Amino acid sequence: MAQAVKRLFPNAKLAIGPAIDEGFYYDFDVEKPFTDEDKLKIEEEMKKIIKEDLSIERFELPREEAIKLMEDKKENYKVELINDLPKDAVISFYKQGDFTDLCAGPHLPSTGKVKAIKILSSSGAYWRGNEKNKMLQRIYAISFPKAGQLEEYIQLIEEAKKRDHRKLGKELDLFCFSDYVGSGLPLYTPKGTILKDELQKEVEKICRKYGFQKVSCPSLANISLFETSGHAQKFNDELFRVASPKGHEFVLKPVQCPHHTQIYASKMRSYKDLPIRYMESDKQYRAELQGSVGGLSRVYAITVEDGHSFCRVDQVKDEVINMCNIIKDLYSKMGLWENHWVSLSVRDYGHPEKYIGTKEDWDLCEKMLQEVSDELNLDAKKCEGEAALYGPKLDFMFKDALGREVQIPTVQVDFSTPKRFGLFYIDENGEKQYPVMVHRAILGSYERFIALMLEQFNGVFPTWLSPVQVKILPIADSHIEYANQVKEELQNAGIRVEVDDRQEKIGYKIREAQLQKIPYMLVVGDKEKEANLVGVRSRKDGDIGAQKIEDFISKIKDEIENYVR
Ligand code: ZN
Repeated sequence: MAQAVKRLFPNAKLAIGPAIDEGFYYDFDVEKPFTDEDKLKIEEEMKKIIKEDLSIERFELPREEAIKLMEDKKENYKVELINDLPKDAVISFYKQGDFTDLCAGPHLPSTGKVKAIKILSSSGAYWRGNEKNKMLQRIYAISFPKAGQLEEYIQLIEEAKKRDHRKLGKELDLFCFSDYVGSGLPLYTPKGTILKDELQKEVEKICRKYGFQKVSCPSLANISLFETSGHAQKFNDELFRVASPKGHEFVLKPVQCPHHTQIYASKMRSYKDLPIRYMESDKQYRAELQGSVGGLSRVYAITVEDGHSFCRVDQVKDEVINMCNIIKDLYSKMGLWENHWVSLSVRDYGHPEKYIGTKEDWDLCEKMLQEVSDELNLDAKKCEGEAALYGPKLDFMFKDALGREVQIPTVQVDFSTPKRFGLFYIDENGEKQYPVMVHRAILGSYERFIALMLEQFNGVFPTWLSPVQVKILPIADSHIEYANQVKEELQNAGIRVEVDDRQEKIGYKIREAQLQKIPYMLVVGDKEKEANLVGVRSRKDGDIGAQKIEDFISKIKDEIENYVR
């Protein structure tokens, strides 16, 4: 791409051009932004370069010669980059035809190996991301080794646009935003709230089986709480600070862990009391960069389903196993379990100074997590440098509709926080001991999880999660009374149901309920009213015929209780 740009715009200066998760970009210093027409021309030129099948050759130069080469080509950004390289760095270049670029490599053997390219977009970008520097023009593009892969990619993007959770959330009336309230602050509608509450009930039901107890803490705290935990330093410019004219000074909690430590600290604890497990679904607040918020995936107020276990060292492994089992249980119910891999996120062994805690604690924790992975067949992949500040973790990675990875559930072992807060228990010899804290998030945040589910299922939730499970559709006004009778029976059975009593044609009502992805529609007319029946339509199979009301109720209840998808 850089070669194509240089051929078409010889005065363009080259800045940086890295590969990214989705393709690559290159920043150019040019007189004016690239137009759509420019981009088409660049794409054509790139295709020509591919046809020319230029061989790509690597060569290395000593620093002085490297700088001279770039100075001769008037590439001042490259000169700056070379000057910033460490003294002992190998300075390599790649040459294809008349084009040479500074690059660490590696590269393909020749340009002909590329079989498909597409320019995706362009935008302004500051040199080195600093707004005090010059604004450059960035072009994003992608390439593939097979032509068919580009077609697939374009299809995937189109499909992802249709499945965008922001679009689906609006269509299904789940959440909204208001300029009065402020961006990055989602409002859940009645239907969205049902969805969120159902998820919460389900997680809590599973966690209660594993001994978790619910607690409830305020959103505010003295800054000293987070200074002690280390979060004030870590989140620093992401903290919301709250002051009142009466002199109060608080911060909005960026995490819930420190509050939970204080419930633990409220009583004397014996070794026999452990493990003590708390859970809470509550809002936490982080001041993300303005402009980076959007939809549900990036918000200022996230609802986190958080939990902590305070336990003895000899209990840590079982605690981690329990938490992994909770995750497996819930994600299997959701039909998401097949779609994941696990990262055993360990420290960066070259930089122990980046972490809190002793080497012995870390070694022990990492070993324990490896054992858990082996015993549960998690097949966790060791990822160096991905650990939390206070300990290693198991991160469960899922794929969104675009195939991008998102980390949602996590289990983290933490020897450090209890020490920072001076938490203790009395062991069997009457001595004070520090407990270990195991953090776990099952849904991550409700916002992220709902966004993932919406996109994954294209808005089609299993019946147990659907905000409206049944829509009753009277054919004419004379059937409304009967429809309301049926509604009452269903409601009494604990089913979420609505009647569409508008004066619309039945075909229209069916279409609309279908678009709302409601699992069941019950059509009621003269025939059904007389025989005490309902005409059942499912969103999956269409018309499945008339049924007795009690038969329909027992069938749908069975479906709900068994989490049928
Ligand atoms: Zn925590």
